[in-house]
Amino acid sequence: MTSQLDLYVDWRQSAACVNKDPELFWPMWKKDPRKDAALEICQGCVVQSECLAYAEKIQAPGGVWGGKVFAADYGYRKGDNERNR
Ligand code: SF4
Repeated sequence: MTSQLDLYVDWRQSAACVNKDPELFWPMWKKDPRKDAALEICQGCVVQSECLAYAEKIQAPGGVWGGKVFAADYGYRKGDNERNR
């Protein structure tokens, strides 16, 4: 039987960010250059859609998930890409 935890772990094992600096994925302000490095890593990630779906499901309060920047103060909107603003 597959649990919710198993599903979570399965896609995380294929994540391009698994051995990257976690701080890249938690920008502290809108223009924080670390987020650009994180978004670059996301571009080559094979589980980007799973990651984005998970972040939306848990209503991630911040951070970079699935090639998007999640932060209320950053004006994130579904389908929007922080890099393009
Ligand atoms: S999409 Fe980005 S944040 Fe999500 S697992 Fe892949 S590299 Fe990590």
